Amino acid sequence: MAGVGLAGCGPTSAGSNASQEDVAGYAPEEVVETIDADIAVVGLGMSGLAAAVQAGCNGDAVVGLEATNVTGGNGIGVEGIFAVGTELQKAAGIEIDPVEVVRTELEEAQMVTDGALWSRFVRASGDNVSWLIEQGVKFSGVVDDYLGSGIVSGFHWFEGNVASTGYIPQMTERAKVLGVDIRMETTAKKLIKEGGKVTGLYAQRKDGKAIRINAKAVILATGGYAQSQEFMEERGFNWENVIYGGTPGHNGDGLKMAFEVGARSFVKNSTFNCTNICGRGDTFAWKADPFTSIFCGAGMFGTGGNQLWVNQDAARFINENFAAANFEMQSVPAMTHRALYSVFDRAILETAFAQDPESLERIDSINEPDLAVADTLEEAAAHFELDAAALQASVDRYNELCEAKADADFGKPAELMDPIKTPPYYIAKLNQYYLMSVGGIECDINAQALDEAKRPIEGLYAVGTDGCMLYRNIYTINVGGTCNGNNVNSGRTAANHAHSTITS
Ligand SMILES: Cc1cc2nc3c(=O)[nH]c(=O)nc-3n(C[C@H](O)[C@H](O)[C@H](O)COP(=O)(O)OP(=O)(O)OC[C@H]3O[C@@H](n4cnc5c(N)ncnc54)[C@H](O)[C@@H]3O)c2cc1C
Repeated sequence: MAGVGLAGCGPTSAGSNASQEDVAGYAPEEVVETIDADIAVVGLGMSGLAAAVQAGCNGDAVVGLEATNVTGGNGIGVEGIFAVGTELQKAAGIEIDPVEVVRTELEEAQMVTDGALWSRFVRASGDNVSWLIEQGVKFSGVVDDYLGSGIVSGFHWFEGNVASTGYIPQMTERAKVLGVDIRMETTAKKLIKEGGKVTGLYAQRKDGKAIRINAKAVILATGGYAQSQEFMEERGFNWENVIYGGTPGHNGDGLKMAFEVGARSFVKNSTFNCTNICGRGDTFAWKADPFTSIFCGAGMFGTGGNQLWVNQDAARFINENFAAANFEMQSVPAMTHRALYSVFDRAILETAFAQDPESLERIDSINEPDLAVADTLEEAAAHFELDAAALQASVDRYNELCEAKADADFGKPAELMDPIKTPPYYIAKLNQYYLMSVGGIECDINAQALDEAKRPIEGLYAVGTDGCMLYRNIYTINVGGTCNGNNVNSGRTAANHAHSTITS
């Protein structure tokens, strides 16, 4: 996840940021089939599969809708899941105090997230993994802190290090065995609300015909809004700079349907997985493009380190090493500025690639519109229509601070203050390589969608990335795998809560 992407993989690829037909304002013309169910699950990715299987285990009559031709959603790239107190951890001698995780997460979110939700989630996480194993999910046995970037060893790797091997086939099969009525290539379009309660939905089949599902509860699990320009802009991203790296089918359908029936938006508070990269490409694929594979994501140039970052005004604005503790932070300034640029010189580049002369050679032969290489800063600035005088002033000031070995402006560690004075000069535009949104529909601790007055909307749940309430502003990936932990936990929570209301 630190550097991979999925565009081009999985279901029929839509390419770049393309969005499929909108659900907003949908009106079914001819309903050709009506299904009566206890629970309808919308989206059969990571969280939808967990919800469908749990509901099936509870003995409920379940319909599962999936818009694409495969189950799994973005899960085809998911590597593992967070948990505390599992048998796998015990076997590896790993002990984690749950309260440490809860405390850390709340502090990182400046206490604005729900501590009761975190506590319940962390304490249920071990049982969730045991339950997954009972359902047939396979783990590799390795538990660690996720790529050496984490603060606890809670990351449980799936077999084959990916959910498309260890989770998706097993959970899909389990859902079938439990009798879940799985409808592939069937897109949920509109919720039905009667007497203040959600009582079902309309969906569209591949042949364009409408079906109606009457259900006592609807669980939305559509995987967020990464491909929706409207929501991405609402969150603060500059759509022009966004390159989508997930699978097709993440148009914010769940959010749009929920908002139509009065659910409260969490889009402005939602988080994401997004790294900075230099370079673009409609069929961007990790490692396929030599430029992006060198300059990508969690690696050196996207994260800042010893380069100088400037914005659209050619002004420096940050300690460029700010994302060292949590690589998810690197794209946060993209929501404050119209564009981000990394400025460096030949000496910085050669030092960075001292052990990798082959890559250095590849950079020299790159013809990439988002990279300027020039003998003067003025020429490099002209490539991006940056103010050359402002850029020169920013570089001069930066070099002065490097000389003094103290970043009096933004406090970057002295050892990362390398002057920019050896031509050629480089400016790389930092685009936002966006994998998925996290959160969007405001929910309570039971995964019930809330209305504007923060009261649960009866019969409506949002799980996984559609309804994640664990974070604010930043995805705390330094406790690795909690997003997927929440997929399973919220899916199970919603199914169990719906079951209790159905049977009460
Ligand atoms: C490359 C990648 C790697 C990741 N790795 C990890 C990891 O290792 N650990 C971790 O914790 N998190 C990880 N995540 C984050 C997160 O766990 C995943 O994004 C996960 O797939 C989210 O699950 P979900 O159920 O919310 O959405 P998804 O799994 O994406 O499922 C949503 C499903 O809903 C379907 N859908 C959408 N609209 C409709 C509609 N109208 N009707 C019917 N179906 C619809 C979609 O087609 C899709 O199948 C990763 C994300 C990515 C992109």
